Amino acid sequence: MNFYKKITSVISQRTHQEMVLLSVSGLTALCFFPFIIVRLVTNDWNIAALNAIAAGVMSTFFIYVYRTRKTDITSIGLSIFLMGFILIDIFLAGKIIIYWFYPTLIATYYLNPHKIALEISLITITILAIIIYPLTLPIEFAIIIMSTLILNFFSFFIFRSITHTNDKLENLATIDSLTQCYNRRALETQILELINKYNRSSFPLCLIIFDLDHFKVVNDNYGHLVGDDVLKEISQIVMNNTRSFEKIYRYGGEEFIVLPLEVEIKEAMLLANKLRSLIENHTFSSNLKLTVSLGVAQYKKDETGDDWIKRADFALYKAKQSGRNIAVCDRS
Ligand code: GH3
Ligand code: MG
Ligand code: MG
Repeated sequence: MNFYKKITSVISQRTHQEMVLLSVSGLTALCFFPFIIVRLVTNDWNIAALNAIAAGVMSTFFIYVYRTRKTDITSIGLSIFLMGFILIDIFLAGKIIIYWFYPTLIATYYLNPHKIALEISLITITILAIIIYPLTLPIEFAIIIMSTLILNFFSFFIFRSITHTNDKLENLATIDSLTQCYNRRALETQILELINKYNRSSFPLCLIIFDLDHFKVVNDNYGHLVGDDVLKEISQIVMNNTRSFEKIYRYGGEEFIVLPLEVEIKEAMLLANKLRSLIENHTFSSNLKLTVSLGVAQYKKDETGDDWIKRADFALYKAKQSGRNIAVCDRS
């Protein structure tokens, strides 16, 4: 039970891509061992040595991902290594090894974006054709190349469709449909990721929370639809005036959060005041003038995401108390 809990806690701290890489490299390394033994028993020293090298490289990939958590370059490296290994194995041990080519091709699509996987696979199939041409009868050659090409194109279209569906689902799950800002669920995930990163290599992390001033009056006097348009316009103003990688989140009804990355509190306050002034000077549809109040807080080591937001929210409360249309910095 304890062991099960430990395993699930390790898995929950890893991203999906890390888990894919850890399982592919770990399982492949294990798969080589019975073949190393068989090759040693049958005195195929060269193939045994080749399999031992592959098991070693796969174990290295496993340890590298486990320690560094780097996935993008590792996925490509691991796929190219596996494909290259199969080609060398076919060259040395003969066409029987072609059976391994099919699962390796699917693993390439599983590990990489489908366009990169297509490039790796097409290059590998071309090299495969050159290697097996002298080893096979013409009909055998045609069957092998046609079947690998068909599997390649099926994999491409299946994985492309999975990627599109996943992108759509991710959009539905993380984007607020009214304002097109990220939603609260996306905020929670991003804050967890940022705190994890902070714990590995501290860098300044700030959070700006803002709330529209007297927004109820807009709804009461102009109606809910005009209120909705104001929320859309405010989101656009903030999106257009922050750096592309700084995301804006709709935290509640008319409360938003911006996470300026790698800036000290002074710069975050400058950004907060810039947004405050842009909104104050903007004329909204229906000729409306509006202001916002803002709270800014810098992340403190070991606090939870909720505590961090609470401190910013308290600064926002003080901004409201001080008469609104002001940015207040948390000094606790
Ligand atoms: P304060 O300056 O103290 O913030 O005053 P306020 O009137 O803005 O008060 P409060 O923040 O409590 O009001 C929130 C209002 O925001 C109430 C609610 O009708 C409105 N609201 C929340 N979500 C939406 C939405 O999606 N669309 C519209 N039109 N209004 C919303
Ligand atoms: Mg308000
Ligand atoms: Mg509010």
